[in-house]
Amino acid sequence: MNSYSIAIHGGAGTISKNSMTPEKELAYKNGLQDAIEAGESILKNGGTAFDAVESAIIQLENNPLFNAGKGAVFTHNGLHELDASIMNGVDLTAGAVAGVQHIKNPISLARAVMEQSEHVLLTGNGAMEFAKKVNARFENDDYFFVQLRYDQLQLAKQTDSMVLDHTENLKEKSEKKFGTVGCVALDQKGNLAAGTSTGGMTNKKYGRVGDSSIIGSGTYANNKTCAVSCTGHGELFMRSVVAYDISCLMEYKNLSLKEACDLVVMDKLVKIGGEGGLIALDSKGHVALPFNSDGMYRASKKENEELFIGIYK
Ligand code: ASP
Repeated sequence: MNSYSIAIHGGAGTISKNSMTPEKELAYKNGLQDAIEAGESILKNGGTAFDAVESAIIQLENNPLFNAGKGAVFTHNGLHELDASIMNGVDLTAGAVAGVQHIKNPISLARAVMEQSEHVLLTGNGAMEFAKKVNARFENDDYFFVQLRYDQLQLAKQTDSMVLDHTENLKEKSEKKFGTVGCVALDQKGNLAAGTSTGGMTNKKYGRVGDSSIIGSGTYANNKTCAVSCTGHGELFMRSVVAYDISCLMEYKNLSLKEACDLVVMDKLVKIGGEGGLIALDSKGHVALPFNSDGMYRASKKENEELFIGIYK
């Protein structure tokens, strides 16, 4: 039996201590702790990394502080279009959904795509038709309405900009946050899994889809190398195929997890202006939580070690 490890994120961006109240900071920390504990209890009891990832992400999707599930940002048309993906490192099976509405837990629908269809990625109306078939839980608009998110949309519309998540002052373009959520886990059998879920960007139009539902960009897991979940400016993360790039650097160039993560997040992404970060685990349980933004909501826990929770640099 191996030791288990788990890490989660709740988004990256311009997260400064000055813009944070003690109450808000505590709420974020509690949200991260509840989610990582949900995942850890599965790993502790000998459950799979895949189940742990889904369970931690469900907690984050149900928490309105994070931009996924309840708390997802508004599109230009005042809707919530949700993206999610999940991948199993043991056999490279994966499932994903993009642009789905009214789905309480998009990560579970992504899992259903993997387990109950012959496909990897389903989008929009087709994905929702599939969701009805597999009895996914739907919620009405009221469930997804969060006043802060609505106010953010009005501000973004005033400046006619598409804004990256739940920033407090949308008029200041420099203030960016990415509130996507994700989890990576290694179970006692040595299997890795990764998952990511998001509402995407405030004021997004035209069915825009980011990296979070793209296997290889926002999410990747392979027992031979690592499990990765990203958060940041999706367009740049897709162009850099971030999650798979880290796995490739380990597989083909024998880089360690830390070396691969640092090269991609602190060098390659920075060079093309790709702001954000990621969480990653390798098959030995090493954890990397790199980000090139001011902060990233993050937590990690290894068997028999203290829980780590971080927000700022
Ligand atoms: N990566 C997400 C997207 O571009 C945004 C985020 O991480 O907050 O949709």
